[in-house]
Amino acid sequence: MFLYRIISAGNRQHTLLWSLLPVPLDFTGLSALFNRVISCFASLIDNFLGKKKIIWGLFLLVALNPGLTEARVHGGLVLMFDDGYANWLTAVAPELARVGGVATAYVTLNNIRSEKLTYEDLRNLQNHYGWEIGTHTNHHFNPQEFVKRKGLSAWTSQELVSAIRELRTQGLKIDNLSFPFDATTPEVQAAVVQHLESFRRPEPLALGSAVREDGSIPGTEISLANYVPLGLIKKWIDLAHNQDRLLFLYGHQVLPDADFVTGTVEAASPHTLTATEDIKAPPGADLYLVPDTSKRSLGGPIRVVGVAGKQIQVGRGDLRHLTKPGATFMIGPGYGLRWSDFRALVDYAAPRVKFYTVHQVVRGQWYKN
Ligand SMILES: [Zn+2]
Repeated sequence: MFLYRIISAGNRQHTLLWSLLPVPLDFTGLSALFNRVISCFASLIDNFLGKKKIIWGLFLLVALNPGLTEARVHGGLVLMFDDGYANWLTAVAPELARVGGVATAYVTLNNIRSEKLTYEDLRNLQNHYGWEIGTHTNHHFNPQEFVKRKGLSAWTSQELVSAIRELRTQGLKIDNLSFPFDATTPEVQAAVVQHLESFRRPEPLALGSAVREDGSIPGTEISLANYVPLGLIKKWIDLAHNQDRLLFLYGHQVLPDADFVTGTVEAASPHTLTATEDIKAPPGADLYLVPDTSKRSLGGPIRVVGVAGKQIQVGRGDLRHLTKPGATFMIGPGYGLRWSDFRALVDYAAPRVKFYTVHQVVRGQWYKN
C-alpha cells in the first residue's frame, strides 16, 4: 500500500497498471517492481531537483541583482513647465511623485503678481517634491523685442537679474532659465550664461545627454498649440531608453480632460473644419485646433477664431492639407496638456526612464549605464 501510494503519487498514469498486478508476486515480479520503484523515486527526485533549480535560479537572480528594476531603466526624461500655475503643486507634482518623478518649473514673476501661484507653492515644489525652480524672467516680455527697444543691459538688469534676486530672496535656488516665447538672440543667451547654468532652446526632437557648449539645453514643446500625439512621445521615450539618453519635454498647464473637445472630421476647407456632429466648445477663450490628433502639429499653432454648430473657423493654415474626413480633431487651450495624456505619458515613462531636473543634468548627476 505504501509502495502503491508512492508510485501512484509519482506517476499517476501507471496507477491502473500497478493495480492490475497479481498478488502475491513471484521473484521476477518483485524484481520488476523494485526497478520500477527505483525509477519512480529517481524521477521524483529529478522532478524535485528540476523545480529546485528554477527556484534557486530565481533566488540568485534577485539576490545578486538588487537593482533588477533599475537596471531596466535607461536614459531619462526631463520635464519642464513654464509660466506658473497653482496646479503644478496641487495636481502635477503629486502625480509625478506617484512614480518618483520630478520636473523643472520656470516661473515668471508676472504669474506670482497675478496670484496664479505663490512663493510658498514654489518652496513646496522645491522642498517637498524635489522640483527645480528656474526663472522665466520678471515680466515675461519677449526678450528679442525688449532688447531691440531698450538694449541688452536693460533686459539683463530688469528682466533677468531682478527676477533671479527676488526668487532667491524667497528661498528658491535659481540655476536655469527658459525664455518667454522662446524668443532669444545669441547676445541675450550670452548674458544669461553669465548668471545661470543654462537656457532652453526649442528643438523638434530634444534628445541629449548634457548641457551644450553654448550653455543651452534642448526642449520640445508638447502643449496643444504644438501638439505631439501620445504615440509619438512614447516612441521618443523608447528612443531615450534604448540609447541611454535624455528626452527634454516642456509644457505649461496640465488641464482636466473637460477643457478639451474632440470630434470627427466630416470635411475641411482652407479655414473651416466641419465636424460630423455639433461641437460644444470647451470653456476658455484662447482655443487652438489640432486638425488630426494622429499627426504632430509642425506648421505652428492654429488659433480657433470661431465655433458654431458643426463648424470651426481658424485664422491660418490650410486645413485641407492637415486633416481628412474620418480623422479625429481636438480643440482646447493652446498652453494646455490634457490630463489623461499627461498621466499616460508619466505611466509609460516611469518603468523605462528616470526623471531628472535640468540642474541635475547640467551637473551630470544622472544615471548613465
Ligand atoms: Zn511663458
